[in-house]
Amino acid sequence: MIPDLAPTLPRAEALRQLTRAFAAAGLANPRGDARFLAEHALGLSSSELILHGQAPLGESGAQALGEAAARRLAGEPVARILGAWEFWGLPFRLSPETLVPRPDTETLVAAALPLFPERHRPLRLIDLGTGSGCILVALLHERPEAFGIGLDRSQDALATAKANAEANGVASRAAFLRGSWLDALAGPFDLIVSNPPYIGTGVIPTLDAEVREHDPPAALDGGPDGLDAYRAILGNIAQRPGLLAAHGVVALEIGYDQATAVTELARKAGFSDVTVARDLAGQARVVTLRPSLSVR
Ligand code: GLN
Repeated sequence: MIPDLAPTLPRAEALRQLTRAFAAAGLANPRGDARFLAEHALGLSSSELILHGQAPLGESGAQALGEAAARRLAGEPVARILGAWEFWGLPFRLSPETLVPRPDTETLVAAALPLFPERHRPLRLIDLGTGSGCILVALLHERPEAFGIGLDRSQDALATAKANAEANGVASRAAFLRGSWLDALAGPFDLIVSNPPYIGTGVIPTLDAEVREHDPPAALDGGPDGLDAYRAILGNIAQRPGLLAAHGVVALEIGYDQATAVTELARKAGFSDVTVARDLAGQARVVTLRPSLSVR
């Protein structure tokens, strides 16, 4: 049930009531959700909310928090209600055509950076299906002499990614282009990254409702076996050796059960050096690929 939040209710008491309502509704993280939504609805930092917990919600605060709580209780993820989420310690705006950045995807950034350990090396990066731009922006943030392209089929995603590059101070080193995988691009790139759609079409109805109903289908659906994007990306690279620089690397996020299949596709595409990185839950999450000499 949605608690009725009176404008005179102290913020700390509203937080307790929301936490109870979220717990009763079976949400996994009732206290954290209540806190995030209260900070957002009231326009306060987490320390302000704690320090000034006895202040009343006020008319507009009570209304905004009531609406946010109703959306959460209807199953909308906190990140969607906020319209923003954190990735790699940086803030990212979201839009309907971008995935919510996952902590799992930080595994990709963490796997790619040590392959280019020199912080000030001028790298050429491309992020295929950039979405919110989170991977590209995190890499540009960590490698201040790097330049990068974010590619996406969605104009809405590209606008969001560009805004995120601006907000994180890397826009002068980023370009955002509309396109499908690597078809229309010339290299060479030092690092090609992607978190492509990789869920099998038939598996999508079984996903958690918060993903299924609120993440964009085009960012999830990897075709009948979930591997369509890997075939397209690796096929592009195999056919056009100039796309990848000598010593270039491809780093791809994969589904937890796709390491064998993607490794096989990569070997067929001429990558002899395939490494699998695991996420914090111990699942295979990222493959990093280097070509054998024949495709350079
Ligand atoms: N990791 C996402 C999920 O859990 C899938 C993202 C993708 O297909 N790239 O649903």
